[in-house]
Formats: sequence, C-alpha cells, structure tokens
Amino acid sequence: MVNVRAFNQAGRLVGPIETAKLTLSDDEWRRRLTPEQFRILRSSGTERPFCGTLLDNKKQGVYSCAGCGLPLFSSDSKFNSGTGWPSFFQPIARENVSERADHNHGMVRVEINCARCDGHLGHVFPDGPPPTHLRYCLNSESLRFTPSEEVASLADPAARQEGARESEGEPKK
Ligand code: FE
Repeated sequence: MVNVRAFNQAGRLVGPIETAKLTLSDDEWRRRLTPEQFRILRSSGTERPFCGTLLDNKKQGVYSCAGCGLPLFSSDSKFNSGTGWPSFFQPIARENVSERADHNHGMVRVEINCARCDGHLGHVFPDGPPPTHLRYCLNSESLRFTPSEEVASLADPAARQEGARESEGEPKK
C-alpha cells in the first residue's frame, strides 16, 4: 500500500489516501503500454530531447502517470528549462513521486518514479527556478495530459469516500 493524493469526482485533489500499489508483469505492461512507453516507464529509458509531445504544451491542466493514471504534475509548476524535456519545479503532491539514487551512466542522479506503479518518470536536479530551485525533468512518454476543465475525469475510485477529507491548502512542494 502507498499513501497518495488523488482527484475526487468533484475534480478536487484529496488525501493522502491509502491505495494499493499497481504491480503488473512485464507481459501485462506490454499489453497496456506502447513500445516506447514500455521502454521508458518500465526499463528506465529516456526519450530524445525536443521530441516529446508535451514539451511545448502550455495548456492549463494536470499531467498524470501514463502507466497508472496517478496525478503527478500541474501546469502551474511547468517551466521552459531549455533542456528539451518537459520540466516542472514541483510535483502536484510530494507523496505521488518517489525518488531513488541512480548510479547509471557514470553519474549520480536522483531518479523519479510514480509512487503507485513505480514507473520511471525522469530525474530531479537541484538547478531549477524559485521557489523550489528543483528541476523535475520528465519524459513526455511517461505522462498523460488532462486539461483543467476535465480533471474530474481523473477521479480515482480510492478518492470517492474522501469528500469530507479534502486536502487543506496547496499541495506541498
Ligand atoms: Fe503510475
């Protein structure tokens, strides 16, 4: 189990709520994802810079995990990093993005993953803009965009009972 924040049917981010981790076999993931999504989300791949479909998306809305639908980032924290990958200065909820040390490719980086399905999202670096000075560097293929007016469509079954426990204040950075 993992504690995350999720949207309820009113389109409000609520929680933290306890929900089951999503654990599938590689075969099940291959059926659910495109080959490129599988390569990135399940094999820690990286898409080529300046090629991602969400890099230049400037619409207001929410970026969710392409593997399990968990909300991960808001357009409110998206910025143009010049790196060629979609970049954010904070997640929509700290609980929803997990971090772990990545020693691959002769570098020490901090890998970021979806807290519910462990899908690989990208990395976080300490050279972002205020207020956090963090740069969450994402693969478009790891994300699915939902415009603000449709966020109620992201309603999570686990959030249905949570109307009375809506999160207070803004998501933590
Ligand atoms: Fe996920």
